Amino acid sequence: MAISTKVLIIGSGPAGLTSAIYAARAQLGPIVIEGEPSSTSDQPGGQLMLTTEVENFPGFTDGIMGPELMGQMRAQAERFGADLRSEKISRLDLSARPFRAWVGDTEAAEATYEASVVILATGARALMLNVPGEDRLLGHGVSTCATCDGFFFRGQEIMVVGGGDSALEEATFLTRFADKVILVHRRDSLRASKIMQERAMANEKIEFLWNAQITEIHGDTKVASVSLVDTVTGAAFTRDIAGVFVAIGHQPATDIFADQLDLHGNGYLAVHDGSRTSIDGVFACGDVADHTYRQAITAAGTGCMAAIDAERWLEAQGS
Ligand code: NAP
Repeated sequence: MAISTKVLIIGSGPAGLTSAIYAARAQLGPIVIEGEPSSTSDQPGGQLMLTTEVENFPGFTDGIMGPELMGQMRAQAERFGADLRSEKISRLDLSARPFRAWVGDTEAAEATYEASVVILATGARALMLNVPGEDRLLGHGVSTCATCDGFFFRGQEIMVVGGGDSALEEATFLTRFADKVILVHRRDSLRASKIMQERAMANEKIEFLWNAQITEIHGDTKVASVSLVDTVTGAAFTRDIAGVFVAIGHQPATDIFADQLDLHGNGYLAVHDGSRTSIDGVFACGDVADHTYRQAITAAGTGCMAAIDAERWLEAQGS
């Protein structure tokens, strides 16, 4: 028989866990589907599990390690009675209430969970280069977040990969810390907006490496150098470097509900009036619905909003 719950939260990054803390304290007995610790890009705790020290989350004067922060949020949610489950939702049916969610066999007649309210906090994944060394050195010189990790590269020489607004924004931001930022782009013209291009080109700390693609990232315990290939001539070469920031875009994790809810043109979940999605009783928070800020603190903030919106919605339904 399906497990019945008032609130089903899908995702366990700062958004999902903050909504769990609030929903649990509102006595809604939320079930949180954390995800499976199966791969580095899709694990419980979200993107903060992939970063090292978090220095911009208020309340931690000396910073806190990403995984430790997520461990604290997890324990806090459990302390108030949230039921955290190490599972992955394989199918979600939002066509009728109660909403239904499956774990495992998507063809099974009976769903695993039935919920009055669903809070979607599935997050977004940074697109990666998928080259040797990248996964191993993530958090040890390879990063996807300049705001989180830039500070650690004070006085060093680093690379940013990509030619869009994100890459130029990250490169410009990183010049506050690094002595030199090499922007590696696979073509010879940028995709980024004109104003971002002009700003980056006027910055004397930024050097452009055109028609280049990283093929491998080297380093024992931290990034030391990269192998590259010239995308025009095919010539291979290497460069010593202390850090590689991958800024080639993000992808919101919408697979299990993309065909059921309104999305923006860029694939992110559309929300209105706080955290409401296009289906009554389905709420969203965190990076899956945020292509602008993408910070742990904003994810936590919207997680709080989703839980409060869900609580009020349930009250209005008389449940
Ligand atoms: P994007 O516009 O999709 O750009 C991705 C860049 O990464 C492109 O230059 C692309 O190269 C390159 N790339 C993709 N896959 C690659 C790979 N495997 N290896 C090497 N390079 C690769 O993504 P974004 O920069 O994250 O921006 C996403 C959206 O957010 C855009 O609409 C952007 O305007 C917006 N945004 C706005 C701001 C702002 O206004 N402040 C800041 C950030 C983002 P090609 O050009 O060759 O395809």
